[in-house]
Amino acid sequence: MDRRQLLRAVAGAAAGFSPLLALADDDRKTRRKSGSSTPQALPAPTSPKARVIVLGGGMGGTTLAKYLRMWGDAVDVTLVDRNPSYTSCIMSSLVLTGQRSMSSLAFGYDNLRTRYGVRTVFGEVVAIDPVACRVTLQGGTVLQGDRLVLAPGIAFDEVPGLTQPDAMPHAWKAGPQTSLLARQLAAMPTNGVAVLTIPAVPYRCPPGPYERACLIADWLRLRKPQARLIVLDANPDFVTEKDNFSRAFFDLHGRVIEYRTNVIIDSVDPTSRTLFTNGGAVRGDVVNLIPRQRAPQLLADAGLLNATGGRFAAVDVLSYASTAAPSTHVIGDASATTQPKAGHIANQEAKVCADALARLFAGGSPDPAPVTNSACYSTITMSKASWLHALYQYDAASASMKPVAAGSGASVGWNGDHFEDMGTWFTALMADTFA
Ligand SMILES: Cc1cc2nc3c(=O)[nH]c(=O)nc-3n(C[C@H](O)[C@H](O)[C@H](O)COP(=O)(O)OP(=O)(O)OC[C@H]3O[C@@H](n4cnc5c(N)ncnc54)[C@H](O)[C@@H]3O)c2cc1C
Repeated sequence: MDRRQLLRAVAGAAAGFSPLLALADDDRKTRRKSGSSTPQALPAPTSPKARVIVLGGGMGGTTLAKYLRMWGDAVDVTLVDRNPSYTSCIMSSLVLTGQRSMSSLAFGYDNLRTRYGVRTVFGEVVAIDPVACRVTLQGGTVLQGDRLVLAPGIAFDEVPGLTQPDAMPHAWKAGPQTSLLARQLAAMPTNGVAVLTIPAVPYRCPPGPYERACLIADWLRLRKPQARLIVLDANPDFVTEKDNFSRAFFDLHGRVIEYRTNVIIDSVDPTSRTLFTNGGAVRGDVVNLIPRQRAPQLLADAGLLNATGGRFAAVDVLSYASTAAPSTHVIGDASATTQPKAGHIANQEAKVCADALARLFAGGSPDPAPVTNSACYSTITMSKASWLHALYQYDAASASMKPVAAGSGASVGWNGDHFEDMGTWFTALMADTFA
């Protein structure tokens, strides 16, 4: 089975409406391809045919590095991240309800080095030259490649008045703010008011804020029955999975959640935890303020943010080459495509990009008809989940990834089996990325 068949088979499995099958199938086929039940060790090449520098060891960058080493013949791959361990955002809202520990979300890079021969460098990248394919680290080290792949995730817009970010944590990059928000919720008065804000699209993980709201509401119902949760949505309506989330917000959690739409936050006062909005002032005992998002400034400085009003990087989705600097590729949340900003999609984009680079280094061209898929589970309560699945296929007329209706859909309602499947899906996705 070649790479193209593999990518199609993964999407095909997903088209059967079982989000769980997609990655399990992917893992099996990759192993079958290598002819082994366990991955074979791939040492870094001694005479590389090409060098690739990857910025960002998250969902996109790590998958890209691993698969490019497996699929590219003698390609030298160096992965750069500011941290020696990655903390998964996926499943991180369960830390808020005490159902997951932060350590259960940590993933290291040992497998990448020892099994796949990826070189790792830990440090802060402070400059990118997307034409010369160079990145500069804090301290002056310069890494030079034949191609760059950028997967740095997102940055947040500044919120006027938010001088103490910890007073209103976003917890939208899993890390210290996730633990902080959990502590703030635990310390909230039993009859307190929590506020959660949802930014205007496009933002990281479209269902994420709604599922977090449902989780917090269920937790409040059990732990602080007099408490309320005000959800301030900058969008005019639920941006995804409307059937399930509207039933959850208005029926199941209707006593806890108050949902307001089209809310623009003009400024905040962190001391009194007040948000000044187009609909008046809103005060909370705990405020989970998720600001509007864009790709990191580093990419703006390099002239790569040429889409979505200068927020994200336009790419050719056959190879994820930047339309501003074609020897630099941008994958994951930092790129502007028709696909959602999600970890599963970052993993899929990484595979399409790795396949395209392997073909280009072999003197060929990218696959002209890539397919991708994304599965997403949403926690509706602390023990029940719904799911959403989308399949995308390249559309030459619009040069974009188009959703395929026959391969997309959502669960009707939620249940405990889907919640269990969510754990299995997460384990498979993280193994496909980091193991
Ligand atoms: C609460 C929450 C729940 C979510 N749930 C789901 C889900 O159920 N399913 C799903 O598919 N997605 C989910 N997501 C979305 C998912 O986490 C992101 O879409 C995904 O992580 C994007 O991958 P990425 O590679 O683009 O960025 P990231 O995974 O964020 O990786 C970026 C990496 O780049 C590094 N980096 C950035 N800048 C620099 C620099 N200058 N120097 C060095 N290193 C740098 C960072 O340290 C980081 O390791 C969720 C997100 C949140 C917040």
